[in-house]
Amino acid sequence: MSEPEFYPEGQLIAVLTTQPLDRMLDYKAPEGGVFLGAFVEVPLGPRKVVGVVWGPGKGDYDISKTRAANRALDVAPMGADMRVFLQRAADYTLTPLHAMLRLATRAPGLSDPPSMRKIYRLGEGQPDRKTDARQRVLEALQDYGGLAFTMGELAEMAGVTNSVIKGLVKQGVVREEAAPRDTAFARLDPEYGGKTLTADQEAGAAVLRAGVQSGRYGTTLLRGVTGSGKTEVYLEAVAECLRKGRQALVLLPEIALTAEFLTRVEARFGAKPAEWHSGVTMTERRRTWKMVGQGGAQLVVGARSALFLPYQDLGLVIVDEEHDTSYKQEDGVLYNARDMAVLRAALCEAQVVLASATPSLESWTNAEQGKYQKLELTSRFGAAVLPEMRAIDMRVEDLPGSHWISPTLKRAVDARIAKGEQALLFINRRGYAPVTICRACGHQVGCDHCDARMVEHRFLKRLVCHQCGETKPMPEECPSCGVEGKLAPVGPGVERLAEEAQTLWPDARQAVLSSDLFGSARALKETIEAIANGGADIIIGTQLVAKGHNFPLLTLVGVIDADLGLQGSDLRAAERTFQLMRQVAGRAGRSERAGLALLQTFQPEHPVIRSILAGDETGFWRAQADERRQAMVPPFGRMAGIILSGGDVSQVFDLGNALARNTQPLLAIGAEVYGPAPAPIARVRGRHRVRLLVKADKSAPLQAALAQWVGQFRLKGDLRLAVDIDPQSFY
Ligand code: ADP
Ligand code: ZN
Repeated sequence: MSEPEFYPEGQLIAVLTTQPLDRMLDYKAPEGGVFLGAFVEVPLGPRKVVGVVWGPGKGDYDISKTRAANRALDVAPMGADMRVFLQRAADYTLTPLHAMLRLATRAPGLSDPPSMRKIYRLGEGQPDRKTDARQRVLEALQDYGGLAFTMGELAEMAGVTNSVIKGLVKQGVVREEAAPRDTAFARLDPEYGGKTLTADQEAGAAVLRAGVQSGRYGTTLLRGVTGSGKTEVYLEAVAECLRKGRQALVLLPEIALTAEFLTRVEARFGAKPAEWHSGVTMTERRRTWKMVGQGGAQLVVGARSALFLPYQDLGLVIVDEEHDTSYKQEDGVLYNARDMAVLRAALCEAQVVLASATPSLESWTNAEQGKYQKLELTSRFGAAVLPEMRAIDMRVEDLPGSHWISPTLKRAVDARIAKGEQALLFINRRGYAPVTICRACGHQVGCDHCDARMVEHRFLKRLVCHQCGETKPMPEECPSCGVEGKLAPVGPGVERLAEEAQTLWPDARQAVLSSDLFGSARALKETIEAIANGGADIIIGTQLVAKGHNFPLLTLVGVIDADLGLQGSDLRAAERTFQLMRQVAGRAGRSERAGLALLQTFQPEHPVIRSILAGDETGFWRAQADERRQAMVPPFGRMAGIILSGGDVSQVFDLGNALARNTQPLLAIGAEVYGPAPAPIARVRGRHRVRLLVKADKSAPLQAALAQWVGQFRLKGDLRLAVDIDPQSFY
């Protein structure tokens, strides 16, 4: 490695800030000079902003007016691989570089001096007067040799009040010191608590370990049925990475899963890793950010944005449940963390492990084509076997209106309860009912700001817009015709299903799992633990339960509406339904007792439903791949969505039409443009939305053409244009 470049005081440097400017700014290096990549505070107008030294200054600005950077910040400089990563990610997603830097600096107080706190350790001499309480403090400190503790920790260990400790400090018997608040995370021990792997698992682990040992880039698709021990296997790759002294990152799709996962990490490595997601306090965020940069965090467990932390030496990224749609960020910077993980790893010679029971078609294709290495775990760990799957043909079930649990499903649940086992009823819809209709005039209650219906949430006692989050109380009278007492729910949500289950099984203990029913990650974690320990007979849940939880007593999964995801024209509808159904079914029979999954459907002959039931994954992926190859859509062609929005619908369409008329840069690369058309949800938060879709050949230089194309237009007023490369949703 070459020595980092250094800019002595006064030398011109180019600084990238997080401010929305389309260029870098020239400054003079501050007192003491700065290294390339250093975080600096620079004056901008009357303000002070944070930036990164990106290279030598251009010098195209009046040198006498060029200001000096105030100072270098007390954080580790950004490494070259990270700078290249941000640049490449910006180019790929057509995002301005300053927005990428903002994503990479989402921790509070980075420009603050290191914050200190007081700690206490054993001092000199003996107290003037010996009391039991004082004695306990001294013993506690002696027990831990030279270690220091915070006031709170020490008081608790010794079982004394703070004033006892303060008294000892006055006499010098206990010493008070200042220590930095952001401290390194506890060391993880790769040899602490490994399980004995099965032969299959060990073979997989050996391949992953070899990858990490190579110290080079490589991506592996770790495919394994739910419960096969994928997590155990990739934790061995993490162990190897720790042994090599490099950092590891595990991305999880859902914060609800982190608590369970942290417990597993602790059991495997003897301590908890650093965490990074929206549920983490600001203080912990800053600590994690800084420690990742200084090497004081060996393992980070987090959500997609953890990819943008300033790792000193990242050696391994695990993307668990890699097919999960939540890896795609759908607002602000539109990026897919799975793809960005591969990019980042390629730039820092790290390994990527994509783990899933039902991989995305993209990853499946990459593995088939040999771009990714393939690993497969085909059987469940121990005595567990994969659940049997069957359809319930709803066309022949005798079910009155406004009921959703068929007699066949009811009998199956009855049987489980009788045996003391658990049943899960799955419906992928939050709230009580998706539609509220007026029985007098037929009006459906909609959101005032979006073209979307309001969803009744009885638990919250409100109507909620799932687009913008707006809520309002359930009206007494119809907002359209004014008739009172005629508003009625139509269709089921998870809360309504719970109500039906309550009347069918009044004596059963019921647990409802839906993301909006839990105020905190802790509350959710407790409920999940209680269920795992047998604290419920019937679990009623949304997508939240489909992911990764382990419920040993669960032997039956009933899917209320298997057809739900098949509607609509989304190119991934089949793939998503297949993944979701297999994931949900995978919750059943994870220990000794065999599991059964029953899918309620009105179209049991539908090819997707048939392949779900047959469990013919390879056949399903092959058929999907063929369809997409023929249609030239991802992963066999490239796509980009253009979303225009604004307060005035005609202005939005004018822009859309202008774009559609001036497509020379796209035609030059052989791309096709569709639209403009109103987006499926044509108004969100009061803004009208119009979409265009661009399709191109796999090898076409799409980004450059798109940049040229949209660059022809200046956006006036409140008009906004967002480019979504590889769009995942088309709402
Ligand atoms: P997956 O990630 O593929 O769904 P997990 O790694 O969560 O599977 O494994 C499923 C369950 O089986 C977990 O409770 C796990 O601890 C257990 N398990 C898997 N492999 C082993 C093993 N070799 N020894 C002991 N327990 C194991
Ligand atoms: Zn709304």
